[in-house]
Amino acid sequence: MLKMMNNILFSHSYFLRLDAKQWKTGLPYPPLGTLYAASLLRDNGYRVSLFDTMFSKKSDEVSKHIAASHPDFFVLYDDGFNYLTKMCLSNMREAAFRMIAIAKNNHCTVIVSSSDATDASDKYLDAGADFVIIGEGEMTLLELINSISQQKTDLSSVQGITYRKNDETIKTLKRGVMADLDNLPFPSWDLINIEPYRHSWMKHAGYFSINMATTRGCPYKCNWCAKPLYGNRYHARSPENVVKEIKWLKGKFHYDHIWFCDDIFGLRPGWVATFADLTEKENLHFKYKIQCRPDLLIKEELVKSLARSGCDNVWMGAESGSQKILDAMDKGTKVEQIYQATTLLKKYGIKPSFFIQFGYPGEVLEDIKRTIKMINELLPYQIGISVSYPLPGTTFYEKVKAQLKEKSHWMDSDELMLMFRNTYSPAFYKQLHRYVHKNYHKHIAMESIAHLLMKSSLPLSEKIKKLVSAAYYLPATFVSGKKLNRIEKISLV
Ligand code: SF4
Repeated sequence: MLKMMNNILFSHSYFLRLDAKQWKTGLPYPPLGTLYAASLLRDNGYRVSLFDTMFSKKSDEVSKHIAASHPDFFVLYDDGFNYLTKMCLSNMREAAFRMIAIAKNNHCTVIVSSSDATDASDKYLDAGADFVIIGEGEMTLLELINSISQQKTDLSSVQGITYRKNDETIKTLKRGVMADLDNLPFPSWDLINIEPYRHSWMKHAGYFSINMATTRGCPYKCNWCAKPLYGNRYHARSPENVVKEIKWLKGKFHYDHIWFCDDIFGLRPGWVATFADLTEKENLHFKYKIQCRPDLLIKEELVKSLARSGCDNVWMGAESGSQKILDAMDKGTKVEQIYQATTLLKKYGIKPSFFIQFGYPGEVLEDIKRTIKMINELLPYQIGISVSYPLPGTTFYEKVKAQLKEKSHWMDSDELMLMFRNTYSPAFYKQLHRYVHKNYHKHIAMESIAHLLMKSSLPLSEKIKKLVSAAYYLPATFVSGKKLNRIEKISLV
């Protein structure tokens, strides 16, 4: 008689506590990709449960979830929509390996789906995983589990997996990405305990934000950007389908804000305008943030529609204030577009925020100065500064991979270690990150003081806060600049 194999324990390998900076920031998003996969499997008749590692203390906690649910399958499925999991941090990889070992000891069939496992499948198979899913996961996972449950012995027709058989590593044909995203069931939000997320957001931000994806993939070819799961094709859900989920989720969680975690929000012509029409028609009011490119954000109609539908903050892949570096990255954008997009967003009341990257090969002092000048002139709402990070599968990685023998991953998202030889030392780039942050805050504080002098209507507490901030950042920037100067004997001011 066939043994029924229909019990699946899902988990993921992101532990907020293992990422000190993110733990301190305290603004976590639930593992959306994991919830999509669990939902699809449940819709197809499987019993699913979830060990959400986000607030867990250690990977060994998986044992009690295995003991409680006795799963046939342990599916370690990372959230491919979150940039933190796309960074493939070594702390999280170690946690994943530990959970794989525990699940194997408990006789589970272990299946892994993540950016890191797609890039380094052998390491996960060595750690004991039975199967690694390569690329987008949901359909492959369903077909694989269906096949195993039906006790098929030949799995070579399941596209998009790698596994070992008689000591041989088998990699099946690549699976294409899904085109019709409206066909997927909504994520299984009921598996998440949302209260710790809400509590953390309220404590650190004063509002509660949740995540939602409207698209998958990105057609652009910035040569340092890895897209191991969703690739270079861009597929979007219909605005109707997204609005339906927004309404459904509002009834469930009463969130204040949404992060649309797409690589690029609203690229399809007319999508945002239709979305704005629908939110108005349905009388939906919420604020949201997105990621987008400067060359798209110079289109006034798009920016107007973003504002009309509640967009509050746009994280723009600005990267550098030097055209030479943007061109070296194959970014396909112009520095002037960053200026134009920032002006346009501010005109419509949307906050522009910048992703900035230092340390790209070929960057010299003049390029760094241009980037700092751009930040000082445009004063974005927020800045996220990173150091160039070679991810497997990219042109950039191929250029520097010979130098990555000693170290190829950061331990956590704040390590910011330059892992290849460049114009300056790794210590310089780490200090540069601190300096540019302080310098940015100094300029913000100085702008606030100018406002303060003109606007006497501000409450006294606000005035004091701004003066204290200026009193801190003026000398702090000076000291930070001096440190930078000691490391490389150069001056940025
Ligand atoms: S536009 Fe953004 S997501 Fe697309 S390739 Fe460039 S960096 Fe990556």
